[in-house]
Amino acid sequence: MPELPEVETIVRDLQPIIPGKTIVNVQVLRPNIIKGRADAFTSGLIGATFDSISRRGKNIVAHMNTDCVLAVNLGMTGRLALDNGNFTLTHPAVYFQLDSGNSLIYDDVRRFGTLQIFGVTEWQERSKTLGPEPLSADYKSSDLYEKIAISSSPVRSWLLNQKNLAGVGNIYANEALHLSGIHPRRVSSNLTETEAKQLHQALQDVLLSAILNRGTTLRNYRDASGRHGKNKSYLRVYGRHGQACFKCSRLVERIVFSNRSAFFCPGCQR
Ligand SMILES: [Zn+2]
Repeated sequence: MPELPEVETIVRDLQPIIPGKTIVNVQVLRPNIIKGRADAFTSGLIGATFDSISRRGKNIVAHMNTDCVLAVNLGMTGRLALDNGNFTLTHPAVYFQLDSGNSLIYDDVRRFGTLQIFGVTEWQERSKTLGPEPLSADYKSSDLYEKIAISSSPVRSWLLNQKNLAGVGNIYANEALHLSGIHPRRVSSNLTETEAKQLHQALQDVLLSAILNRGTTLRNYRDASGRHGKNKSYLRVYGRHGQACFKCSRLVERIVFSNRSAFFCPGCQR
């Protein structure tokens, strides 16, 4: 599932291209991808020009010149790409035809993604329901410690809750916990202030290096030109159960709780 680094990669790819472009037509092939009415979605976007494109949590957020915001959530297998890349369509759901002659295409095999239009204020309200951005300069380790110290959830579950942090999913939660030496099942409130500090730093490190590597492609994720991300070979624990830890050589283990796999090294993570 695309997380913060994958969404950020797509957004950065589209930033030099999309702003200033006008949508001349919208074709919805899979109406169940659209949240709200598909006819209101198309009529709200046709003729609108992209002012900016950015990321909030795991959402791609496009501000239009018509006081409307298009939010794209890639779900499990969604892709947003330009048709001039080496992009192979598998399950196209929505075409945005642009005045440049190109199309921006939303493609989704499993169709758990959503596309939705909001008013600006409505989007601001929605955005407030998400936690802080872990890479924001305003987000300090004291902010993380303050909140984690009052939670009885396992720390991996705390990290996955988008109300606590926006954009972190199972891959980078597991990676940050290994880097900070914290077992995924530890009760959040039992973390020391030092551990919270290490976790805060580890989150920055794993997310930033994944962005530099253009995201993790396990199967479906592609950037805005249809290319794979290169971060998979840098993963420390995620998907590496039965293989040796790069730090201590003990075998990485996999456990399941809250219906999700957790990967950890019994040597490094207490
Ligand atoms: Zn280890």
